[in-house]
Amino acid sequence: MIKSITGLRATSQVHIGNYFGAISNLDSSYENFLLIANLHSLTDEISQEGLMLLGKLLFSYNGYLYIQSNHPQVTYLSWPLTCDCPVGELLRMTQYKSQKDKQNISAGYLYYPLLMAADILITDASRVVVGVDQKQHIEFARNRAQAFNNKYGYTFTIPEYIESKAPKILNLRSNDKMSKSKGDQNGVIFISDTPDQIQYKIKIAKTDSGLMPIDILNDKRESIKNLCLIFSIVTGKSYNQIEQEYKNTSFSTFKSDLTDALISFTSQLQTQISNISNDMITKRLQENQQQIDAIFDKKIQDFRLKLKI
Ligand code: AMP
Repeated sequence: MIKSITGLRATSQVHIGNYFGAISNLDSSYENFLLIANLHSLTDEISQEGLMLLGKLLFSYNGYLYIQSNHPQVTYLSWPLTCDCPVGELLRMTQYKSQKDKQNISAGYLYYPLLMAADILITDASRVVVGVDQKQHIEFARNRAQAFNNKYGYTFTIPEYIESKAPKILNLRSNDKMSKSKGDQNGVIFISDTPDQIQYKIKIAKTDSGLMPIDILNDKRESIKNLCLIFSIVTGKSYNQIEQEYKNTSFSTFKSDLTDALISFTSQLQTQISNISNDMITKRLQENQQQIDAIFDKKIQDFRLKLKI
């Protein structure tokens, strides 16, 4: 069976960018590694509540649900990968460059692509399901795997970035990526938002001036394009349908329909989550723990043989 991996940091909130950028692209016909990446959360905040929430969102998919810190084989693998990596490759990462001028920035921001490479390479997954913000890190993991294979003989599957339905959802108040830690949080739709919160956030969402787009893909207005992308995913309507339905109209009717669609979507998801108990997650994690350990131990054994350590 083809192996696929997705990982999400266990912070307290999950927004529609995380959901449509990663989770909703999962496919149960693959052997999925469903990683709750709590070690990656250490650079920001780590949340027990967020960990359970991710567990509930990933629960329905086929594969192994696991928490990063329960499997030390991953951090073990990350160190030899670190020693084999020219620091220049890390310094080139766009995400690091965008953060590096912050005061006392954690070294975790520089090194995390190596932990992420270990997350992926230890599974032998050929598919990595993530948003486009992680594309460069997948390229990095591919380079590291290729370098290792060339030096020590074939050890790691070369992973591939899988293009998501929504590779980059923008903050509704700016044209920056929707993020739980950066930007105006009134421009972020969380899956836990109430109908009132959604209504308010869509009401104040930036649209630029003019009428609804007649050619969404080629429209230069990023904000309205972003709202059309969200609407299309939530309703299943094609861009062509949206263009026809809202031709020559102002944004108000569209915004009202988008609000209804988002409220209906989040309510259904909230109900789905509320039907999964913490005990169900704990049980699934326990069931998958040994399976994951067996897969990771085998990989580490092979890796150690190659490295002669
Ligand atoms: P994080 O919560 O940062 O660990 O991200 C979890 C997943 O969501 C990763 O696959 C990210 O690439 C994806 N993601 C985060 N923000 C967005 C966004 N605004 N649009 C699309 N995907 C996103």
